[in-house]
Amino acid sequence: MNASFDVAVIGSGPGGSVAATFLAQKGYRVVLIERETFPRFHVGESLLPATQRIWEKMGLAGELEQSGHTFKYAGEFRIGHQPDKSDFTCTTGYFHHIPQKDFTPRPYAYQVERAVFDKQLQDCAVRHGVTLWSETSVTEVLFDERGRATGMKLRRNGKEEILNTNFIIDASGRRALIANQLDGVVLDPVIKTSAVFGHFKGVSRDPGWRQGFFNGYFVPNGWIWMIPLANDVMSVGYVQNKPGSDNWSNNGEEVLLDAINRFQFVQERFKDAVQVGRVRMLKDLAYETKQFCGDGWLSVGDANFFVDPLYSSGVQVAHSTAEFAAETVDAFLKGNRDMSVIRRYENYILDYRKRVFRPMRSFYRCMRHYYPMYRYVKLTGPTFNHFDNWYFRRVCVWGTGQFHRHNWAVQSFALVGNIYAWISPKIGLGGWPKYDKFKNPNPPIRVPKAPELEHKTDASVLTAGTNGKHMPQSEAIEMAAH
Ligand SMILES: Cc1cc2nc3c(=O)[nH]c(=O)nc-3n(C[C@H](O)[C@H](O)[C@H](O)COP(=O)(O)OP(=O)(O)OC[C@H]3O[C@@H](n4cnc5c(N)ncnc54)[C@H](O)[C@@H]3O)c2cc1C
Repeated sequence: MNASFDVAVIGSGPGGSVAATFLAQKGYRVVLIERETFPRFHVGESLLPATQRIWEKMGLAGELEQSGHTFKYAGEFRIGHQPDKSDFTCTTGYFHHIPQKDFTPRPYAYQVERAVFDKQLQDCAVRHGVTLWSETSVTEVLFDERGRATGMKLRRNGKEEILNTNFIIDASGRRALIANQLDGVVLDPVIKTSAVFGHFKGVSRDPGWRQGFFNGYFVPNGWIWMIPLANDVMSVGYVQNKPGSDNWSNNGEEVLLDAINRFQFVQERFKDAVQVGRVRMLKDLAYETKQFCGDGWLSVGDANFFVDPLYSSGVQVAHSTAEFAAETVDAFLKGNRDMSVIRRYENYILDYRKRVFRPMRSFYRCMRHYYPMYRYVKLTGPTFNHFDNWYFRRVCVWGTGQFHRHNWAVQSFALVGNIYAWISPKIGLGGWPKYDKFKNPNPPIRVPKAPELEHKTDASVLTAGTNGKHMPQSEAIEMAAH
């Protein structure tokens, strides 16, 4: 079969739908090939304001603002210095605590059910004239003898077909279809994380505008996330570096429940909770692909690399790499298969990886010890009024997803983290001694399960829900001051 498409995009997650939309805007005939039917569950629910710039260009920013997703103004991180008393030190990175000239068009983001959000992106691509083939799985990408990508084998309606195109974008997420067909991926040597996660209702939330904040709790060798979604759904996850060392089994539900029960302050939030989603587990989160572009193809988003969920960067990385990919494909095809633009994409990705991997490696080095983590929270939290000073305002720009701004600030902060992590064990401050001694005095709880473990998720349900409320910039700044 030889349908007439200029570009075929494999996978309709954020990376695929965004790349397809931008290419359709440039007048290309694009086919978006997705193996699943949307809406479908996906992890990765906490977004960053830097993505607003891209939604504006796609004509989607207004729709997202109106569609009932929880508004996110900040990320809040806590660590206990007296864990048995739930006496927690907290640091909050507010998205508007950045230099004025770095403000994004809307300086807030959303906490989203990906089932809904990914469908909104996919619908946006289709509205732009992209052809969508759902329930179609690409099984192999075809290369000619010169290494040029020429087409692909796919399974559609139970039959195998061949599709030839001028360009292929691999947006297949962690499946990293082309990279795995070629040289594969390399796991990160420092960030060796795994995660368990699920959806719950009835988990207590902070009052007022704080209900939408991302909550991260630092615990030995890892952290717990709570992402407040619409309709009282709380996404809860537990990330651990080097699992196996600390109560990690293959039973995700037990691992997550154990994490909830070990910390009194977390357990207390679950008093009235009900589990409403299947608990899932993912291992080896951080990786880089060895090959991510070539003659007639390139990869975006998770099909290219993934660093870590902590700063909620994955969806923003998928958007920005997809945007740059669309420009690259345009220049490549207009320039009569100009390989210099592919090299430019290659350099852009290599630089991008350094910007996001270095700070996260520093974070996980610190994470091995209580002391640097506590110092981090103490330094950025109470002492400096939650990131609100000249230096941390610039570090915080990275936290809003603008990884290409003020690189020196975040990299110098990462360097300090590396030094702390290196020195701590040498001066007897290694490990998590306080936590090792700590036992939650309360008996463990079991969280009951809803009869149906996959709740309904589409946009009509969301708009009826209890969502975060949009707050003007000035009001948000005033709230943060109190
Ligand atoms: C534990 C965890 C927590 C995370 N939390 C966050 C977070 O809070 N915030 C954040 O921004 N990011 C988070 N992420 C990252 C985020 O999930 C991803 O970075 C993001 O989804 C990447 O988008 P993508 O389009 O590249 O890939 P995906 O969203 O994975 O989309 C890939 C699509 O390709 C399709 N596909 C795959 N193979 C084929 C094939 N052969 N043929 C056709 N279709 C195919 C899949 O069905 C899928 O729909 C998290 C990741 C993990 C692992």
